[in-house]
Amino acid sequence: MRIEFIPVDKDDTLMFIVEGIDATFANSLRRAIMTEVPVYACNEVVFYTNSSPLYDEVISHRIGLVPLTTPEGTDKDSKMVTMSLEAQGPTTVYSGSLVSDDPSVQPVNDEFPLLKLGPGQSISLNAECYVGYGKDHVKWQPGLVGYKNYPIIDVDKQRCNLCGECVKTCPTKILGIEEGSIVVLEIFKCTFCKSCEDACKRLNENEIITVRPMNDKFIFRIESFGNMSTKDLLNTALNVIEKKAERLDQLLNE
Ligand code: SF4
Ligand code: SF4
Repeated sequence: MRIEFIPVDKDDTLMFIVEGIDATFANSLRRAIMTEVPVYACNEVVFYTNSSPLYDEVISHRIGLVPLTTPEGTDKDSKMVTMSLEAQGPTTVYSGSLVSDDPSVQPVNDEFPLLKLGPGQSISLNAECYVGYGKDHVKWQPGLVGYKNYPIIDVDKQRCNLCGECVKTCPTKILGIEEGSIVVLEIFKCTFCKSCEDACKRLNENEIITVRPMNDKFIFRIESFGNMSTKDLLNTALNVIEKKAERLDQLLNE
């Protein structure tokens, strides 16, 4: 297996090319990242006061969806963390008002609006945060992952007359003409839309440009919700897959 990272200028995003795996493994990695990485999220809320216009259930749901930082080494046995919230109206209450009893577990951003309080209204609650998995509820999903096959773009140089139609048509603008031939500039941006093929076919009888997927090479994009870094997400998911494979091997041997 070969991994090559693609430079991205966003801290919460990781892009890389993996070669030497099949679609089954690619999908296992995607699913492991989204559903098997343990992270903190609020799971129960104890209300002491709520005179806001929102029901307890609605506020609990909104607090549950606030992503929480999750320290390295967290697993399903990690301790519960409590966040308290007290506010008086008139005000807008943001995630930054949640006070955690563990500084390593906090809302990833202080600016998620939770509710509005009018004059004379108040709220007082304790939110109990547990470690869970995306497979049980989306509030424990630590990010988004997508992948696609790596494209192979072939141009028949003998037949290509450099008319430039494919270059003009490509919606991601990744084709160009350099030194008398068609070149692909940022291949990982190809969407397999095949507009280049269609444009060429309208003008020529033969297939001059073709786009097809590689079946053992994939382009991944991971976006973290902030619970942990994208690299930690990837490492944790790979460890999960390794442990599951070891367990399966052990069971088969028994
Ligand atoms: S449209 Fe076809 S013939 Fe024209 S430049 Fe592209 S590949 Fe060549
Ligand atoms: S398949 Fe679509 S995105 Fe890819 S090179 Fe052709 S026109 Fe561009």
